[in-house]
Amino acid sequence: MTVEIELFMCRTDNFGALLHHPQSGETAIVDAPEEGPILAAIERRGWRPSMILTTHHHGDHVEANLALKKRFNLRIVGPEAERDRIPGIDDTVEEGSVIPFGDETIAVIETPGHTAGHVCYHLPKSKVVFTADTLFALGCGRLFERPAPVMHGSLKKLAALPADTVVYCGHEYTLSNARFALTVDPDNARLKARAETVEKLRAEGKATLPTTIGEELATNPFLRWGDEAIRRHLGMEKAADADVFAEIRRRKDNF
Ligand code: ZN
Ligand code: FE
Repeated sequence: MTVEIELFMCRTDNFGALLHHPQSGETAIVDAPEEGPILAAIERRGWRPSMILTTHHHGDHVEANLALKKRFNLRIVGPEAERDRIPGIDDTVEEGSVIPFGDETIAVIETPGHTAGHVCYHLPKSKVVFTADTLFALGCGRLFERPAPVMHGSLKKLAALPADTVVYCGHEYTLSNARFALTVDPDNARLKARAETVEKLRAEGKATLPTTIGEELATNPFLRWGDEAIRRHLGMEKAADADVFAEIRRRKDNF
């Protein structure tokens, strides 16, 4: 990894993140959930941000946009499909957009589902992806604006990234996600071991992130629509992938 990342908590369970390119000195803020912790992180690292990368319009991801823009005179980047709902937006992006970042590029992946215009930011060279409220550690975002087949398509794109891609998510939901995951994939030894680790980390007040695409493929039921044991457990051996995903999402909504 050539970029540096500072991860920290905001609000109650939101993650804030700073993305820094040491050679060029560039810094991006990935979502702006709360001004105070973001300023503290900037101070801690001594980095000066030049942009905010917005993943989607929800208040817990854009609350500090205008305050940070005023303070740092930075540019706010966000999805074209949500431009009217993102405070202070300057530059819009869509599927395939690339944002120069030092000698790296940040590639935009559209991942509708949680919201209609949600995007993820992927750095192929450093092998990092910011998935906000699309993919969580052991979970996925709630389907507020698009139905399950659309979210399934979005998660398929993330599942296809290299397995060693490091994943940063929008919330610390891993503990409740782990408890749910065990109800649909109870015999998965790797999941059981991970759930124990997560219980321990949370008991110590520590973050469970980052994760990797490979780890999620092995343990996150929301990426495991093709897994035979899960399908058998759900009585959906012959169902379409998107239907298996939809059933898992439905069960989580009622968990
Ligand atoms: Zn959200
Ligand atoms: Fe959120």
